[in-house]
Amino acid sequence: MHEYSLACNIIEHVISIAELNNAKAVNNITIGIGKLAHVNPDQILFCLETLASDSIAQGTEFILVDIFPDMECECGYSCNSEQLIKDNDRCDDIRVFLEIPCPTCGKIMHELGGRDLVIQSIDIEQ
Ligand SMILES: [Zn+2]
Repeated sequence: MHEYSLACNIIEHVISIAELNNAKAVNNITIGIGKLAHVNPDQILFCLETLASDSIAQGTEFILVDIFPDMECECGYSCNSEQLIKDNDRCDDIRVFLEIPCPTCGKIMHELGGRDLVIQSIDIEQ
């Protein structure tokens, strides 16, 4: 499962950071999930919580944050897709990001980024 291996990498990283800092516990972890990363938030949360149990990260709160890709048009216009996609239900469909017309010239824009899972912050107790 895609989500499971991603969650493994995150938990391994969190544990190594906690050990490096002589942490007693990990309070919370903020994880940015790219809208184009093909990750199911419920599944990744389940995997993270399962993997965190029996480790220093047991009981940690996982905060999942959406990362919207930047959009760029050949006419030179660029912006973040969050400004262009106002209907939040629709933005769970990845195809929406591939069909965004440029607000200035109307051509279909290209997306940049938004494909990664990143640990944005880790709050540890020392
Ligand atoms: Zn344009």
